[in-house]
Amino acid sequence: MSKDQEINPPNEFTERVSRLLLVCVQGIMELLDKTDNLFPQLQSLTQVIRKAVRPKPPEGLAKEVQDYFVRLRLEKEFRGAEQNEMKQIVVDLTETIMEMAGNSGQFTESIGEQIAKVKAATSLQDILAIKEEIVFQTEIIRNKSLSLRKELEEFHEITHNLSQRLEQSEARVLIDPLTNVFNRNAYEVKITQVVREFNRYGDGFSLVVVDIDHFKNFNDTYGHQVGDQVLISVASTLREAVRTTDQVYRYGGEEFAILLVKIDPENAAKLAKKILTSVEKDYFVFKDQKLNVTISVGLANLQKDDTASTWFDRADKAMYEAKKAGRNRMVVAP
Ligand code: GH3
Ligand code: MG
Ligand code: MG
Repeated sequence: MSKDQEINPPNEFTERVSRLLLVCVQGIMELLDKTDNLFPQLQSLTQVIRKAVRPKPPEGLAKEVQDYFVRLRLEKEFRGAEQNEMKQIVVDLTETIMEMAGNSGQFTESIGEQIAKVKAATSLQDILAIKEEIVFQTEIIRNKSLSLRKELEEFHEITHNLSQRLEQSEARVLIDPLTNVFNRNAYEVKITQVVREFNRYGDGFSLVVVDIDHFKNFNDTYGHQVGDQVLISVASTLREAVRTTDQVYRYGGEEFAILLVKIDPENAAKLAKKILTSVEKDYFVFKDQKLNVTISVGLANLQKDDTASTWFDRADKAMYEAKKAGRNRMVVAP
């Protein structure tokens, strides 16, 4: 370190402003596509700011700004996944219809172009507009056969339901403001999608229901605000315990649901156990006291005849079994 820097450490105000700037720039970078022209410029900017501030996790306003960007990024990812599902359905069904209509002539060519457009579309509005065009073109040949008509009706229905759901999810708030994990709305949207995907592709999915043990006592003893801090802390422990592809939802008060994707029952049980011990090991400091919480965990692996609600019920019931058996444990649903 040079003498100048020793004599002139950045004053506190400059440092705070710099930290705030840093989280803003980093947040914007997370939302940008890496190929965006702005990306390398912002990257250099973060390096310049980093030189002026000591490494320290953000706090106060900087922390709030950082959380804000985390929410934006989660919502963006969530909607991106939804749009991809819409694209896939449009493409799959269009290809089926094409095959049935016979692979010849101008029709096939123009539909092929529309499919390429769907794959490249970046907004829900674009996908829906192209879908309409495909429907229009297919209608022209709809009378060719009865089974083709059936396919077309199915196509109409599925894409209509999905686009409605997508529009709703675009308008809804998906993140819980207290804990910064997905909320119940996001859960409902996602779970319907997952059950359908399971029926189509057969990937393994597991649902983990988590409920904090004796949380009411905790609130009564330390107050509601400390209770809130515990919820924040448990949510972040859950998020850290799972893989980045798994999503944590605040299902209700002190109950969370975690969706494990592309997983087999054995690994799901291992992960659910890990979730349990992560919370058990973790502690929360309040007035020089170390406070511990435990959770009860229910695990249900998605089965062939499950609907979104039977799947949740099985996981929830297993969680209650864990409560009955003494809490701070994990039960796998039959
Ligand atoms: P059990 O081990 O059987 O789950 O007992 P419990 O006390 O955790 O369960 P109970 O359902 O009796 O109480 C849940 C409590 O969670 C009651 C409610 O006041 C509290 N709670 C729900 N949402 C919030 C919140 O956002 N903040 C705080 N601080 N408390 C909350
Ligand atoms: Mg509870
Ligand atoms: Mg509860």
